[in-house]
Amino acid sequence: MLYRFDPMYWIISLPALILALVAQAWVRSSYNKYLQVRNAAGITGREAAQRLMRAAGLNLRVEQVRGQLSDHYDPRNEVLRLSEGVANRASVASVAIVAHELGHALQDASAYLPLRVRSGLVPVVNFTSWLGPILFMVGLWLNVFELAVVGIVAFSGAAIFALVTLPVEINASRRAMRLLDQSGMLRSDQERRGARRILSAAALTYIAALAQSLSTLLYYVMLLNGRSSRRRR
Ligand SMILES: [Zn+2]
Repeated sequence: MLYRFDPMYWIISLPALILALVAQAWVRSSYNKYLQVRNAAGITGREAAQRLMRAAGLNLRVEQVRGQLSDHYDPRNEVLRLSEGVANRASVASVAIVAHELGHALQDASAYLPLRVRSGLVPVVNFTSWLGPILFMVGLWLNVFELAVVGIVAFSGAAIFALVTLPVEINASRRAMRLLDQSGMLRSDQERRGARRILSAAALTYIAALAQSLSTLLYYVMLLNGRSSRRRR
């Protein structure tokens, strides 16, 4: 998109960009640190998954997936996919991440509303998040105000998606801590602090994503506003 050359775009989006970079770095550093810290119970992510599922009454298939921090719950196939580090290490990071993904599975099992809304938005947002900016720029270029507004409305779907993602992620982490507390898997305060740190860092990345889509939206509105006031003059 051409607006990437506009200094105003960078001024508006810089705070959110910095927040995103900080959040990423925080996730990486806490993950790397607590993947090395052995949990006192001595259980791997895979074992933690089995124990926590039994305690929570869940019965998911557990598979291994390539990459780092690629762990996720797949609601369509009811599969818990764990990265190699998480699955096979008896670390604080492993149990925290497993518990978080099981938090999503519990949300799914209880038909947690924000998760449902979020899943429903996925196909819509996949479409509107690229179409919106195109419609907006074309509308601006051709001086068709209405088209630009339609572009903004379409693009705002991405911001709504990011907004709905927040409660989903924070709630999954809350469920994770509850699961871990009930299981007695994390025995010391240091272990609980580590788990909490990883989950908080992950939450910050979702806050940063929301800030990023809101700042792009703000930039669009400002561009359009500048254009229409010029037209009125
Ligand atoms: Zn999550």
